[in-house]
Amino acid sequence: MTDPLTLADWRTRAAGFAPRTRALIDGRWCDAASGATFDAVSPLDGRALAAVAACDAPDIDAAVAAARRAFDRGDWSRAAPRHRKQVLLRFAELIRAHRDELALTETLDMGKPIGDSLSVDIPSTANCIQWYAEAVDKVYDEVAPTGPDSLALVTREPQGVIGAIVPWNFPLIMAAWKVGPVLAAGNSLVLKPSEKSPLSALRLGELALEAGIPPGVFNVVPGFGHTAGKALALHPDVDGITFTGSTATGKLVMGYAAQSNLKRVSLECGGKSPNVVLADWRDVERVARASAFAIFFNQGEMCSAGSRLIVHESLKDAVLEAVARVARELAPGDPLDPATRLGAIVDRTQLERVLGYVRAGQEDGATLALGGRQLRQESGGFFVEPTVFDGVTPAMRIAREEIFGPVLSTLTFRTEDEALALANDSHYGLAAAVWTPDLKTAHRFSRALRAGMVYVNCYDADDITVPFGGYRQSGIGRDKSLHAFDKYTELKTTWIDLT
Ligand code: NAD
Repeated sequence: MTDPLTLADWRTRAAGFAPRTRALIDGRWCDAASGATFDAVSPLDGRALAAVAACDAPDIDAAVAAARRAFDRGDWSRAAPRHRKQVLLRFAELIRAHRDELALTETLDMGKPIGDSLSVDIPSTANCIQWYAEAVDKVYDEVAPTGPDSLALVTREPQGVIGAIVPWNFPLIMAAWKVGPVLAAGNSLVLKPSEKSPLSALRLGELALEAGIPPGVFNVVPGFGHTAGKALALHPDVDGITFTGSTATGKLVMGYAAQSNLKRVSLECGGKSPNVVLADWRDVERVARASAFAIFFNQGEMCSAGSRLIVHESLKDAVLEAVARVARELAPGDPLDPATRLGAIVDRTQLERVLGYVRAGQEDGATLALGGRQLRQESGGFFVEPTVFDGVTPAMRIAREEIFGPVLSTLTFRTEDEALALANDSHYGLAAAVWTPDLKTAHRFSRALRAGMVYVNCYDADDITVPFGGYRQSGIGRDKSLHAFDKYTELKTTWIDLT
């Protein structure tokens, strides 16, 4: 075992950081056709890390054409599943072999603590690719029970060219949740990373090529949403679009699909997830730790963040006191320091958004119980301390709108019915948690929660084997697990007359 890298080591590596900056189309690095670039700005200090190709419709056209040629060529789309498995397993190993470099990219570009990048983002990315690689030659098609005079086959086929548009909060993991099943199923892919965190996706594309994924099968096109993203979602030769991001953008993407070619659409959108502590819960310390993790991990920039703590009035003071104790251990620090547990907010716009919601909470009459300030301004970066509001009521903006930052809104209730009504009072439905030692209550309450993922006596349990996604305006379709294949395959029924 080598010694883990220190802050000084990471700073030295950061000083020599030289990321890929051009689009990866048909296995080659290309500038944007217009020659335009945009700065990838580091949230650690507000400085530009690199000038990245600002791709637009002509570049999307080139990438989609390359993806279509690759799909029709068939060296990936019609390859034996065991071949795709072997190549994707190599890809997963290459991700692991470049762990430090990818982790540094994620931290510098997006602001998360290096410890999290190393222990969460890179291993989860590699594991996701590996899991779909291993799955692909174990999925069988069907023979329908139509009787003796016919044979009816129900088979899955790759859709063709898939466009993936992803956000910045977990740049590699969100990409991997698309890349794994899309490629394992035999499709070609055009990936558009967020303009706020484009760098790791470019390296991911390069590692895929090195692993043996044929040129044109996996293209990476950096650019803005209203240019490159829109062009991809509107493209008439894209068969499916898979999106992760805000609900507002998801609605636009769905509209683009309708306006163009009725491409298949799947959406993983926002959330305002309730974390409900019922009156019979006793272990205050445990629920407080989990609740703090649910809202402060990744600087609160999590779609599934437990942003509404809905706690029985008899427990509220004790739970909030314990949450505050945990929060004080989480002062934001230099994201390159392995000891740091809370990093930087992704950019100035998001920082202003979070601080704007802190003001909105106060204006609407909630009590600022902890935090609320910008910190580490001398660094030039974007840092906010863990923030807790008490006395929040359902109509307040901080109870209804997704903040996407380390801001917890606390609401109280008297009866279980009231708790359930508060929990479901949202147009989102991504995640929800309930804390109770009573088995029947846990089942009854979980069934009544309108959310795609329910946690009982825990928060944010995670595994690639289970579906991830939401009810209502949190999205359509599911990432992860074998169910993700549904989004990237078409079902074909083939009748054979046996008479
Ligand atoms: P966003 O909607 O601003 O951007 C997401 C992506 O869409 C980016 O790549 C962006 O460039 C692109 N985009 C923007 N406008 C576009 C347009 N007009 N056409 C096509 N593409 C466009 O979201 P964000 O700020 O990057 O990410 C935060 C959001 O993502 C939050 O709402 C969060 O809840 C959500 N999210 C959801 C999940 C999930 O699995 N449900 C996971 C992570 C993040």
